[in-house]
Amino acid sequence: MKTFKIHNTLNNKIENFEPIDSSNVRVYACGPTVYSYAHIGNARMAVVNDLLIRFLKMLYPKVIYVSNITDIDDKIITASKETNIPIRDLTQKFTKIYNEDMAMLGVSLPDMQPKATEHITEMIQIIEKLIGNEFAYEKDGHVLFHVPAFKKYGSLSGRNRDEQIIGSRVEVAPYKKDPTDFILWKPSTASLPGWESRWGFGRPGWHLECSAMSEKTLGLPFDIHSGGADLIFPHHENEIAQSCAAHNKLDDLCAFSKYWFHNGFVNIEGEKMSKSVGNIKLVHDLVKEFKGEALRLALLSAHYRQPLNWTIDIIKQNNIMLDRFYRTLKELENINAYNEKREIDEKILDGLYDDLNTPKVIAELNVLTNKVSKADHKEKEKIKFNLLEIGKILGILQQKPNAWLGYGESKNIDEETIQRLIKSRNEARRNKKFDIADNIRKELKEGGIEIEDTPDGTIWRSV
Ligand SMILES: [Zn+2]
Repeated sequence: MKTFKIHNTLNNKIENFEPIDSSNVRVYACGPTVYSYAHIGNARMAVVNDLLIRFLKMLYPKVIYVSNITDIDDKIITASKETNIPIRDLTQKFTKIYNEDMAMLGVSLPDMQPKATEHITEMIQIIEKLIGNEFAYEKDGHVLFHVPAFKKYGSLSGRNRDEQIIGSRVEVAPYKKDPTDFILWKPSTASLPGWESRWGFGRPGWHLECSAMSEKTLGLPFDIHSGGADLIFPHHENEIAQSCAAHNKLDDLCAFSKYWFHNGFVNIEGEKMSKSVGNIKLVHDLVKEFKGEALRLALLSAHYRQPLNWTIDIIKQNNIMLDRFYRTLKELENINAYNEKREIDEKILDGLYDDLNTPKVIAELNVLTNKVSKADHKEKEKIKFNLLEIGKILGILQQKPNAWLGYGESKNIDEETIQRLIKSRNEARRNKKFDIADNIRKELKEGGIEIEDTPDGTIWRSV
């Protein structure tokens, strides 16, 4: 029995994945703050987690995946003021767009998508527990988590106290006992969103929502907490501190989440993606220009923990790769891959067991495709089975080959004419009149039709 090996940020090691309850595997991922369109970095997190969940679902009978929506945040308030769209309308609009854009990348909806604004009561309860356990204090309408009280603070990020001070937002904050202390609750005004509490009318600090929603939806402890690597500090460090301190679990940080799973950054043409450079790539724009499946494979082309260098070339290369895979599937169209019970090739699966090593898996799929021309019938069945089954886990190759390749639809010439021309061309080739054959190919091309000679005959597609 093979074991899934997964990198755990909590101890920076590759560990055997041993779920707390193998009949109910539970995963929480920090989702988007919905004030604008998702960029390709957000998409990487969603796609990588979608892969993780698909793989876990292959291994375990029940997997619950929760990913939240942050619908209260300073950025949302600013965006609402700038656009003159009420906060609720703005967050609903961008939640819908986020889910639609991710669906274009083959990302399934999480089992639950809790919203921060619907969990204020749970957040207030955690604050009360933290004050009761003397990890939090109230000052001038603010409630703060007192970081020095939680001795294991810094364990996830490996940041020592000096680095924590530099990393915590430097702001003039007379209400802070210690520079690393972070906000659990802050005052709000009548014109801004807020909720009544015993510390006055206010709203929660961002970190609190994930402690509240993960506990509410999954129970503690759960198996995997994930998110982009940019969230390790301070967001995830603070979540651990809040959740463990609220339950007085001060030594065992696994009392919150057993494994911490983080995906790497996306750079754009070798540069860090940032507003100031102006190189932010939005999924909403990319899906208009490229096929979602090609974008998805491009996002999976690097190992999830490595930085991914996002370029037009990478998208194109992955599109070409999918063309090849689909062409192979087209070639195997009449082969029945499900005529007997089969298992996925161990060698290909090994890559996934090995901390979701997608480059290795994709390389194996290429090896498989290269074998088709020399394969006998039995081998062809196996090749098709593996392409389709691994495709399901990677979230690719589930379309009809004709649909991907664009075969069978022509914009400019009617089908009868195409078939007539192909027939004439084949006749010309049989009679070794290659000039005529070439001219017909050109004529078709001018009409927007590309032809390809396969062992099963000539096929065509519109370009
Ligand atoms: Zn979070």
